[in-house]
Amino acid sequence: MRLSPAICQPLLTWFSENARVLPWRKNRDPYRVWVSEIMLQQTRVEAVKAYFLRFMETLPTVQDLAAAEEQTYLKLWEGLGYYSRVRNLHKAAVQVCTEYGGQIPATHAELLKLAGIGDYTAGAVASIAFGEKVPAVDGNVLRVVARLTADERPVTDPKVKADMRAQLVDILPDDVGAFNQALMEIGAMVCIPNGAPKCEDCPLLHLCAGAHMGIAARLPNKAAKKARTIVPRTIFLLRYDGKIALHRRPAKGLLAKLWELPGAEEALSPEDAKHWLSAQSVSAAKLLAMRPAKHIFTHVEWHMTGYYVTLSAQPPANDWVWVTPAQLREAYALPSAFRAFLRAIEEEI
Ligand code: SF4
Repeated sequence: MRLSPAICQPLLTWFSENARVLPWRKNRDPYRVWVSEIMLQQTRVEAVKAYFLRFMETLPTVQDLAAAEEQTYLKLWEGLGYYSRVRNLHKAAVQVCTEYGGQIPATHAELLKLAGIGDYTAGAVASIAFGEKVPAVDGNVLRVVARLTADERPVTDPKVKADMRAQLVDILPDDVGAFNQALMEIGAMVCIPNGAPKCEDCPLLHLCAGAHMGIAARLPNKAAKKARTIVPRTIFLLRYDGKIALHRRPAKGLLAKLWELPGAEEALSPEDAKHWLSAQSVSAAKLLAMRPAKHIFTHVEWHMTGYYVTLSAQPPANDWVWVTPAQLREAYALPSAFRAFLRAIEEEI
């Protein structure tokens, strides 16, 4: 079954009456739409709100972002995860200023040339901010389309995704920006991902093949996901003279170039931890085991053992930096993977 243009009007009416008031919907400024779409990738709306407002207050224009120091935009992103998003956002802002005269490009095709912008984000910005008739297809939209058309093909298959995108192209109404947002909104609020869709509240129920066939809740079909790799790690919260040691991660790979608490890529027993510390020339006066913690990335899970270590002598001269809790709070972006271990000093931060 193909997607019907009959969904457009009820969807737009429902959106005009039910759209959530969100800070990035205040206007259709392309910079705001773009930043919000990047923040919303893999992050919940509620979590994004405060980050978005802070980001806009500090870097209100694409020129401000292009001119910002790395530590400034990383700090604004601290805790949101997937830091390559903000690095690309900055790279793209520089591109906009150097190659596009400071004007964000107005078409899907040009937006795709900017760092970190894929088909979905280009579609969202081009349609919402510039009214270009292109769809914005993400996982939410694929789920709604699969259910509306009772499509049991796996939406993880690029051919299926391309076909659903083509079906959307065929029915896009004039107010394409509102339509794309309405599809996303219905996917977030009514045709929800986990658990049964709220069909009784849906303005598209009379047009929904999946609901009528009683198969909507088990759609969309997805190919089985690969299991994540478990990586054991040991994290050290090292204290000396009221300061904390930080280490900069390598330029490539997971959490590239971000600050972290020093540690080892293995689970160390207290005895092994003492050996590891002496190999780094750390004289520990006290070593306390902290509560283990887990952090889940897209393909990897860190299972972390932690130690709180008070140094008894001058720290070694190596590539660690020593910062006060206030400096950590104000100037260093520490990924949320390490947050659990900062609880031990939360009253200082
Ligand atoms: Fe989703 Fe139910 Fe609406 Fe169909 S009727 S689009 S399954 S919420």
